[in-house]
Amino acid sequence: DDADVNIGEDVKSPPLAGPNVMNVILVAAECAPWSKTGGLGDVAGALPKALAKRGHRVMVVAPCYGNYAVLQDTGVRKRYMVNGQDMEVHYFQVYIDGVDFVFIENHMFHNLGSNIYGGNRTDILRRMVLFCKAAIEVPWHVPCGGHCYGDGNLVFIANDWHTALLPVYLKAYYHEHGLMQYARSVLVVHNIAHQGRGPVDDFSYVDLPPNYLDLFRMYDPVGGEHFNIFAAGIKTAYRIVTVSHGYAWELKTTEGGHGLHGIIQENDWKLKGIVNGIDKKEWNPKLDIHLTSDGYTNYSLETLNTGKPQCKAALQKELGLPVRADVPLIGFIGRLDNQKGVDLICEAVPWMVGQDIQLVMLGTGQPELEQMLREMENQYHEKVRGWVGFSVKMAHRITAGADVLLMPSKFEPCGLNQLYAMCYGTIPVVHAVGGLKDTVQPFDPYNESGLGWTFDRADSGQLIHALGNCLLTYREYKSSWVGIQKRGMMQDLSWDNAACQYEEVLVAAKHQW
Ligand code: ADP
Repeated sequence: DDADVNIGEDVKSPPLAGPNVMNVILVAAECAPWSKTGGLGDVAGALPKALAKRGHRVMVVAPCYGNYAVLQDTGVRKRYMVNGQDMEVHYFQVYIDGVDFVFIENHMFHNLGSNIYGGNRTDILRRMVLFCKAAIEVPWHVPCGGHCYGDGNLVFIANDWHTALLPVYLKAYYHEHGLMQYARSVLVVHNIAHQGRGPVDDFSYVDLPPNYLDLFRMYDPVGGEHFNIFAAGIKTAYRIVTVSHGYAWELKTTEGGHGLHGIIQENDWKLKGIVNGIDKKEWNPKLDIHLTSDGYTNYSLETLNTGKPQCKAALQKELGLPVRADVPLIGFIGRLDNQKGVDLICEAVPWMVGQDIQLVMLGTGQPELEQMLREMENQYHEKVRGWVGFSVKMAHRITAGADVLLMPSKFEPCGLNQLYAMCYGTIPVVHAVGGLKDTVQPFDPYNESGLGWTFDRADSGQLIHALGNCLLTYREYKSSWVGIQKRGMMQDLSWDNAACQYEEVLVAAKHQW
């Protein structure tokens, strides 16, 4: 569990925030590099650093799922009731790149392995109740750098349904009792598909006064009447952010809102789309620590034409594929979930293997999709690799070594892999939805503009069409290809810009009564 943590880089940028300097506490169920199942973990690890660079005092609060190295025990212990049971939490802490990372420890967070959302519905519900209750009082109880943050001038950033109880608790336990009067909450929607749904009886687990039930009670044609944590959080938070403009729009549609579109529409006034940035220390071909061994190499815009082919050859070698510079190497990285469109890739594979290509897919998730990856590797062994597993190292190496990254997601709130790909000169082929639509402008051969290939409908025919055009350009129009690579690499996709927009939202929340 020892995460690979890079400590101590000085924060160089001068404070920018001026009179709007705030205390900001981001609360998330996962935080990279300590815990991560997807984009949420990356955001929790990186956005706070960019906010700190702007002059704010910033903390991240996450559960402690393992024995993380470098953490200090703060010695602070607190007890909270969860569904009638008295539970003790311990607080651990580390200060990195200008941010206080605080971890909340309780036996419920142990022994989950990499399956941090594992257990039955009420198990995870109880974990998140405890986590939110404990997180909200961190600014009172846990000294960071010698001083507690306190609750004045404070904004919490809660994330997804796991921490959507935090805005509700802030209101019910504190504001309504004259406490934490100046603290505000913002809720970020990373993925609306997971909502913390359950039977209405689940209300008894969240320890709230009976008049709060209506915030949680939802009805939809599929699930009938049910209990919905995300709904309560959206109604109660002072502001809502989601991770792209495209997704902000989709959330208000029947298909995109997954039953919550009505509530999002009603709360549209407080909703804003902000595209995620990427952590340029983690995801940078020039500095990438996963490219320093096994024949890989670091590279940059200047060394693209030698560095990237070297990474490609190293990847082919590592995967046991024929080492050939001229064959387009296509990659996929992601959770093996219906969302990610893995089924479309599978449908397109018979066409793909009819071409001179190589394909590598890295992912974990639904067992039947994992099995599909293995079967494709067996069936088309000379061209296809299906790597079932969660490997950050492999994700970096594929991003560097592949020519093309496929993202045929059915929906994609933001999507990070296409952003990483572009920084590494790897060209994305994506279904134009959500954040993919925001970030991958289609290649226009007449103007030599654009960043990749897109298709408008989630079907394999459209995927094949887009990928076909991409492969044609790879083979026949080298200078266009290199132009796309370079435009992708020259973008500023860092968190600085996104942090600036988050700051506006935080300020708006702070001034709202
Ligand atoms: P989501 O949050 O829906 O999973 P994103 O594209 O926003 O999708 O983020 C996914 C993140 O998880 C990326 O950093 C990606 O590299 C990483 N990731 C997904 N699957 C794997 C895997 N099998 N091994 C390593 N990293 C993975």
